[in-house]
Amino acid sequence: MKGVYYSSKVTKSVFVDYGSLSPEHQRLYEKSRDYVSSQHPIKCVCGRLCTGLHEQSCGKFRAAVNRHFLKTVQGVQNEKSE
Ligand SMILES: [Zn+2]
Repeated sequence: MKGVYYSSKVTKSVFVDYGSLSPEHQRLYEKSRDYVSSQHPIKCVCGRLCTGLHEQSCGKFRAAVNRHFLKTVQGVQNEKSE
């Protein structure tokens, strides 16, 4: 998928290049970010206290958003193909 890269087949780390996603996928990505953020209202995924700035710079938060985004996109594609 355009804009999504796997950094390693072993760790299955996912990188998302927001700028090269399609507009539809950018919307889904923002939804995923809101979802992960709402699941961790007080402490971040990494266990530190959340601030807006922290989430922007936290690799673990971004990785969680990327994974959720990928699941969402794959779910949407499965729904379409059925
Ligand atoms: Zn964090």
